[in-house]
Amino acid sequence: MRKVTFPHMGHSYIAFKMAMEEMGNEVIIPPRPGKETLDLGVKYAPEFACLPYKVLLGTYLQTVAKGMDTIVTSGGVGPCRAGHYAHLHQAILHNLGYNVNLICFEPPKRHPIDFYRKVQSLNNAKLSISSIIKLLKRGWHKLKALDHMEKLSHQIRPRELKRGTTSKVYLQAQRWLDEARTHTEIKVAEAEGVKAFNDIPQDSERKVIKVGLVGEIYVLLEPASNLEIEETLGHMGVEVERSLFLTGWTVDNLQKNTEELMTVTEAAQPYLPELIGGHGRDTIGHTVIYGKRKFDGVIQIAPFTCIPEIVARTILPKVSKLHDIPVLTFFLDEQTGKAGMVTRLEAFVDLLKRKKQNISISQTATTLN
Ligand code: SF4
Repeated sequence: MRKVTFPHMGHSYIAFKMAMEEMGNEVIIPPRPGKETLDLGVKYAPEFACLPYKVLLGTYLQTVAKGMDTIVTSGGVGPCRAGHYAHLHQAILHNLGYNVNLICFEPPKRHPIDFYRKVQSLNNAKLSISSIIKLLKRGWHKLKALDHMEKLSHQIRPRELKRGTTSKVYLQAQRWLDEARTHTEIKVAEAEGVKAFNDIPQDSERKVIKVGLVGEIYVLLEPASNLEIEETLGHMGVEVERSLFLTGWTVDNLQKNTEELMTVTEAAQPYLPELIGGHGRDTIGHTVIYGKRKFDGVIQIAPFTCIPEIVARTILPKVSKLHDIPVLTFFLDEQTGKAGMVTRLEAFVDLLKRKKQNISISQTATTLN
């Protein structure tokens, strides 16, 4: 039986685990990326590689020590080195003496036959095509329910009366969804999760500010790589709206051009008409949209040396000025510490609160005049 692993990306491992197991594979769940993961990645990765590359390499080295023999991951297209990473990871592991297999999924709308062959190569349980389709639909259902839980945590955390309650409920909701296998069980687990979130005592009068989170997909989706920025902001009274979720990204890669992707691309058009790889153009488009939606601010997070996000960073001051929306950028690497990040976030949030207060004072003055 294959012993497979895949990169840790937020809660998505819960849905991937179900799909891999039911296809007859033994799953080696990657540990949540931590210091050991990063130390291993930094030790064996080229120095110039970006943070996701190092975290993933560290993850593979941790799981290979537990008997993992197959990596399942995604490739990529466009002018970004991400498309080469899986093969480079495999080469490094081979050089270190680990003979691991690599199953690297490319965007199915470009490579449908390759996608089908790779799914079949993981089908050790010899499921029929219709069973695989049903399984993928259940995995998708689970992934959407998990995203729903995460979105609720972003909305409720800044309003919770007792600090930490939302994070506990979110963890519990993930456990319920992890145990759910059938569509009915997933629906029940999701409903229980919604109820648990709604039962959290909240301060409905609290003045909450709204911030959009944009940037590179890996650091956006994996809390361990962004030093739990969403939770930290929530505890500062900030409601976060993240621009990317795995389900949204998957739809963009499966369908031709979704309406949302078109809207984001259109919003970025005056500033960045070209696809520059990664999510650089999306970062600009989403910031424009958050500005139009009158968000209080935007935070861009990106791995250090990430070229698409560096390009976006140079354009953001213009977008910020024209749409009157403050933007803060974090470039993350193995040297980034949480204390420094929290200090910068506190200052930014303070600025946003004052700006909001000044606007409401000047609006009241205008009304009185
Ligand atoms: S998008 Fe940025 S972080 Fe991701 S692989 Fe490309 S350069 Fe690296």
